[in-house]
Amino acid sequence: MILNRLATDLRVLIDLGFFCIECCPFLEKRPQILALALLLHKPFSELFYLLWLECLRLSDYGEPFIFFNMNKITFFAVVALSFGLVTGQAADRVIFEDSNFSKEGWSGFAEVPGTGGWEIRSRDLGDLAQAVVQEVTIEGSGGIFLSAGSGSYVSVFRSEGVVYAVRSRDGERAPIGQADADGTISLRLGFDGAFLIYEYRASGEWNHLGKSDIIGVVSYTGGISTPDRASDMSGYRIIELESLKGVRFGYTNTHKITGTQWVVHDPFRPQPRQINPGTTTPRDNPGTPPSDAIVLFDGTNLDAWEDGKGNASKWTLRDGFFECGKKSGTIQTKQKFGSVQLHIEWASPSVVKGSSQGRGNSGVFLAGLYEVQVQDNYDNLTYPDGQASALYGFRPPRVNASRPPGVWQAYDIIFEMPEFEEGEVVKKAKFTVFHNGVLTQHAVEIPGVLGHKKNIPYKEHGPGSIQLQDHGNPVRYRNIWIRELKPIQ
Ligand code: MG
Repeated sequence: MILNRLATDLRVLIDLGFFCIECCPFLEKRPQILALALLLHKPFSELFYLLWLECLRLSDYGEPFIFFNMNKITFFAVVALSFGLVTGQAADRVIFEDSNFSKEGWSGFAEVPGTGGWEIRSRDLGDLAQAVVQEVTIEGSGGIFLSAGSGSYVSVFRSEGVVYAVRSRDGERAPIGQADADGTISLRLGFDGAFLIYEYRASGEWNHLGKSDIIGVVSYTGGISTPDRASDMSGYRIIELESLKGVRFGYTNTHKITGTQWVVHDPFRPQPRQINPGTTTPRDNPGTPPSDAIVLFDGTNLDAWEDGKGNASKWTLRDGFFECGKKSGTIQTKQKFGSVQLHIEWASPSVVKGSSQGRGNSGVFLAGLYEVQVQDNYDNLTYPDGQASALYGFRPPRVNASRPPGVWQAYDIIFEMPEFEEGEVVKKAKFTVFHNGVLTQHAVEIPGVLGHKKNIPYKEHGPGSIQLQDHGNPVRYRNIWIRELKPIQ
């Protein structure tokens, strides 16, 4: 026993050592202190080991290391939480429990005539909630699901001795993982703040079947994924796992945004609901600009654009579009603009790489200062004020009208310049944005100059270039035109 314990602690210690050195440069000089804490108390070490495993899983799947997306405050919150576990202040919380299907608290729960049994269908789980996990124990076939409606669901279930993890989005079904497992097993389906996690337990430890992106930010329904009676299932629980908290993308040590209860890039700000934008704007073929528009890109040349130093754009011109390459640099229009109507079409890479802010990120800057975020947020969570068609660092879109990766999307942006008198702002900048024809920002006043982790007061400025951001992802643009908004006589 003691040897086992020592071996476990040693393994955790080694893992944590690597973790501290490789992943948290700011802790580089202090692994010994944390290592000592590890040896002192097992719950602390278990939590770190759990988080470390999660990190390994993420890197296995080619996702960027999740801790890169955590700031120091979040990290120390996790550490504080660990001490909470040690002192018994923080613990997993059972939100709903029905050990042998007593019928209470379920919707779609119906008695099966002539059998004396019940059929259980669903239970509302509300909006996607971080660290919430569904669990069930089964003896035969069946399992659990989370549904976002209309052919979008995730499920972990057993059929003929094989446990399957499945994800379906708009009717398109994709296998996530599978494993052989006989006898009584438990199944678990949860959300860690960024990804859906699929697990099963035959005996002892939980086994990881896989993880996947979300299937839409909407209210979720959970339940039993078999039409059979629940007679060979038991121990259904919905649990909030304290140990999974703190992995959500975002920042908590930034300034408060004026007029809101949120800080810049707040990870806990409500996520805009993901909708299907339909096809009110072209997606397969570009449209044509109005006759009085200034055409900034018609598919043939980048003559209207330059880098920040007056050199030619280094973005790659392809067949009817141009694309950000390696170290292309941010580009801008040669002409400066004030208040405008801007139409711009973009597409994120069809091969999904990365997550959160690392996935299909670019941006459209108006007057060279205010960013309308360009990003692949189709089933990709990030902090709400940093997602596609957000006014970056300030205002999330009203809805998430993203199209899938690789599909052309459109922004129609109406930007009104701020006005100044003697250096003071007397009229703030204003944005209205349509994303794929869907209104996402309506006459929103900008409180100041926005940016990554900043939200600073206005400084007097005049018209500026339209800029397209190089954020290291091969995002494409096409069909760009602009109309200057002059005062009506
Ligand atoms: Mg950006």
